Amino acid sequence: MGHAVRVMYLLAGVADLAHEYDDPSLLETCEKLWENLVHQRMYLTGGIGPSRHNEGFTTDYDLPDETAYAETCASIALIMWNQRLLQFEGDGRYADILEQTLYNGFISGLSLDGKHFFYVNPLASQGSHHRQEWFLCPCCPPNVGRILASLGNYFYSTGDHDLWVHLYGQNSATVTVHGQEIKLRQTTQYPWDGKIQLALDMAQAQPFTLNLRIPGWCTEWRLLLNGQRMRVEPPAMDGYLPITNTWRPGDVLELELSMPAQAVWAHPAVRQMQGRVAIQRGPIVYCVESADNAVENLDRIMLDPAQIADFTVEYRPELLGGVNVLRGPAAMIDQAGWDDATLYRYQQPPTTQPIEVTAVPYCVWDNREPGEMRVWFRAANL
Ligand SMILES: [Zn+2]
Repeated sequence: MGHAVRVMYLLAGVADLAHEYDDPSLLETCEKLWENLVHQRMYLTGGIGPSRHNEGFTTDYDLPDETAYAETCASIALIMWNQRLLQFEGDGRYADILEQTLYNGFISGLSLDGKHFFYVNPLASQGSHHRQEWFLCPCCPPNVGRILASLGNYFYSTGDHDLWVHLYGQNSATVTVHGQEIKLRQTTQYPWDGKIQLALDMAQAQPFTLNLRIPGWCTEWRLLLNGQRMRVEPPAMDGYLPITNTWRPGDVLELELSMPAQAVWAHPAVRQMQGRVAIQRGPIVYCVESADNAVENLDRIMLDPAQIADFTVEYRPELLGGVNVLRGPAAMIDQAGWDDATLYRYQQPPTTQPIEVTAVPYCVWDNREPGEMRVWFRAANL
C-alpha cells in the first residue's frame, strides 16, 4: 500500500539490511510483498501503482489501462529492488521482472531523442498524453539517466566459483571469478532476436560454473559451445542454466532463445482486462498506434489469440530507432448501419470487417505524430 516509488525504495533498503544484518526475517518480508506485487498488482509492462490520487497502490487486481499512473520512477525503483533480491540466491524470477520492467515500463519513460520524459505510463491513450521536457517535480528525468548510466551493473554477477549472466544485449565486460579476470563479449541483436553469442577470454583455463539465464517467457532454447551442441539439463525452478566446465580462452557459447510472438492474458480477477489479450515477443510488450493503423478508436480492434504466434516479424532499422514490427490479421467493429441519430439499436448487432494490424514495441510509442495507443485488445475467434 501507499506511494509506489517510496514503497519500492523502502524495500530496496530492506533488502540491503537483510544482507548487511544477515536477517532472514527481512528477506521473508520482501518475498511476501514481492509476491503480492508481482502476482496481483503489476502491469504487464512492469508499471506499478495504478492510481493518480496517491501516486500509488489501490487494491489487488486493480489495473486500469488508460488511467494507469505507473510512474517511471516506480518502475525504476522496482528494477533496483529486484536487482537486490536477485543477488541473494540468483533466483531468475527477480531477473524476469527486472528485464520486463527495463524493456517496457521503464524505458517508455524516455523519448527517442533523449530529451522528453513520461512521468505517467498508461497502457492506452486517446492521443493527448505526451512526454514533456521537464516537470514541476522533476524526479523521473534524472532517475532515467541514473539507471542508464549504471545499466552495466545489472548484467552480470559473480561468486567464488560462479558467473551469472542475467541480461542479454550487445556488450563487453570484465569480471573477476576466483581471482582471475575474465573478459566477456556478448554479440547479439537481442531483444529483437534470440541469438546470443558469448565469447570468453582469460589468461589461462579456469574451472567455474557459468549460469545463463533462461527467461521466464522462453520455452525453447538450444546451446552450442564452440559450434557443438551442448546437452545440459533444463534450468531448475530458478531460471538459470548452470554449466560447470573448465573454460578456456577463446571459448564461444551460442545461446538461441526461441522468440515467437505470444498472446498474453490477464488473471480473470483483473476486471479491466476481461476478454482481452496483449502481444509480447521476447521481453518486449507490443502496442498498436494510430500512426500505423487507420482505425478510428483502436478499442474497436479485435485479435484472435490463436493467430498471434503467426504474426510476421520484420526488423525495420529506419523506424523508431530500429525496432521489430509485428503484423497480422485482426478484425474491426465497423460502423455499418449506425448514424448520428442512433446511440442504441435493437435486433441488429454490430458487424466487423477484417483488417491487418501493425504493432510496435510499447516502449517507443508517442515518438511520431500524436495519436491513439493501446496494449490490450478485445479477444475473439476471427
Ligand atoms: Zn518520478
